[in-house]
Amino acid sequence: MKNILRIFFGFVKTYPAILYSIFLIIFLPLFLYLNTFFILKKFEKNVDFILQKKAIFLQSVISEFASNFLKNQEILQEKIEKISQDNPEVKFLRILKKEGDEFKILCSQKKEEIGAILEDPTLFLSWSQNQTIASLILINENQKERVWKIVAPFSDNGEKIGLISFALSLKETDALLERSIFNALLAMIFGILFSLFLIIQHTNLFGYVETTKKLKEIDKAKDEFIRMASHELQAPIANIRGYLEDLKERMKTRLLPEEKEDFERIDLSAKNLVNLVSDILTVSRLEGQRLDFSTEKLSVNKEIEEAVLEFSPRVKEKKLKLSISLPEEEVFIKANKWRFREIITNLVSNAVKYTLEGEIKVEVKVDKKTKRCYISVIDSGIGISAEAQQRLFQKFFREKKKETAEIPGTGLGLWITKEIVEKIGGKIFVESIEGKGSKFFFYLPLA
Ligand code: ADP
Repeated sequence: MKNILRIFFGFVKTYPAILYSIFLIIFLPLFLYLNTFFILKKFEKNVDFILQKKAIFLQSVISEFASNFLKNQEILQEKIEKISQDNPEVKFLRILKKEGDEFKILCSQKKEEIGAILEDPTLFLSWSQNQTIASLILINENQKERVWKIVAPFSDNGEKIGLISFALSLKETDALLERSIFNALLAMIFGILFSLFLIIQHTNLFGYVETTKKLKEIDKAKDEFIRMASHELQAPIANIRGYLEDLKERMKTRLLPEEKEDFERIDLSAKNLVNLVSDILTVSRLEGQRLDFSTEKLSVNKEIEEAVLEFSPRVKEKKLKLSISLPEEEVFIKANKWRFREIITNLVSNAVKYTLEGEIKVEVKVDKKTKRCYISVIDSGIGISAEAQQRLFQKFFREKKKETAEIPGTGLGLWITKEIVEKIGGKIFVESIEGKGSKFFFYLPLA
């Protein structure tokens, strides 16, 4: 026993939450059950007492008319039958007369008993002591039914002439109480099962919380690793590009045309690597909330003109037309200059990248009602299929088709763009027809 207690207390010390579980599973339902049990037991005692009073009252009534009608046995029998009918809890009701040393049944609830001799010791006791005897006894086959048995003498003109003997059953109330106790027991079992279920749920929940915590830590470590790795990668790639440029310059005159092409390819791959590293770095900063979003008042007209200008060489090289359409009045927003530039650069860069011929338009419109400015980047490029449009803003999504096979990219640009637009209070949309062109447009609140 001592050992069991020691193990139990050791366990509670290690897992104090177990106390809460034990209380919830066992003590709470048990307490509720015991509470109901004791209230019902008290109620039972009161019912017993009330029935005893009723029995004694009944005895005084019967004594009265037994004295009056002793001579007229028929009327007495009738009265007894009536009382039995009116009080269904009456088990038996007899009027007995002393004849010599015996007691003979004069009238009875059961007619067939009339004339029989009874040898019950209580009858002799009540007669000799000349007083009412009330006793709570068990009767029936299995001695299960409780009854109040009353034996009382009655007299005529002060002379003892007979005995009244009857019993009132407590069967109904006992059954009711038994049912109530059984219901309380059921409620307790249900309570225990329900608490058990709650505890299991709780344990699961604790498990989930623990797992989420761990996952968050892993995620943080992963972010940190990506941040470090991409940062560290930038310097060597810049070196490669620098040395490559140097080498190209020095060997300019001695290079064969194929070798020159190879140099170009190496340079393009290095450039793509730079883009990939820079995109991954931006994603990691966005996810780690390390990207600067401090705001200032920006002129949309000025920012767009400057951002688009950077694409002039590439546009010229691809023989495309690039135009800007701005409202006459200068438009102002409140945003971070570099984040706004990133949005425009990403969209225009895609338009240039995925347009083989034709034109690209950047349009700015102001909706004074909603106090928003709408910026669109429209191209006459390869377009995007309806299925791809659904997944366009997901991380690493690139549409796989023959037109895009040769075009380098990371699939991160649009995800970054959408994140930034939403972080500065806007929303981005796409409309496109395959083979005809695409329109990316977004709105931002005016300053
Ligand atoms: P990336 O261009 O580096 O692959 P993005 O996230 O910017 O990544 O774009 C995702 C995909 O959306 C691209 O791979 C391309 O298939 C498609 N896409 C984006 N912009 C355009 C556009 N203007 N025209 C056609 N397809 C586009």
